[in-house]
Amino acid sequence: MMVRIVAPHFTAGMVRGGACAPILHYMRAKGWTLRQIRAYCHDEQGWTMELIDDEKPEYVECRGGWATLYRPLIERCEREGYTVGQVKQKFGSMRFYVDLDHAAGETLPPELELAIAIAERASQTVCEWCGGPAKLREHCHYLFTACDTHHREVISERDARR
Ligand SMILES: [Zn+2]
Repeated sequence: MMVRIVAPHFTAGMVRGGACAPILHYMRAKGWTLRQIRAYCHDEQGWTMELIDDEKPEYVECRGGWATLYRPLIERCEREGYTVGQVKQKFGSMRFYVDLDHAAGETLPPELELAIAIAERASQTVCEWCGGPAKLREHCHYLFTACDTHHREVISERDARR
């Protein structure tokens, strides 16, 4: 997983190119967890950070902030022999679909179904962009789950496009 940090004093090129790469490399080398990186970059420095899951499967359509929710489910499905059909954002929440042969009456084991339901519900409290604490938001009929920072960003982005 790659962490892209968008800091006000970095130009976009620097952010994507390398200016923040040494900082991240240092943090990773120090064994910092994502939580610690977020606390430093986001909470302490006030930088906007976005989690980019650059190893996500094609069927994952939502953003990397939810990787901590969908990754364990994908691993579990693979382990238990189920094929994941799609992971996406709908009405602001994560939706996790498993391919089942409904005609043959195939269903998920209740434990797996419950784990999926819990993760989908939890996605309403996790920012889809950065993985930080979030709320379900609504802007001009568009529903999304974001922290305060990404809430502001999404609104200004969408307003600029109109
Ligand atoms: Zn966020």
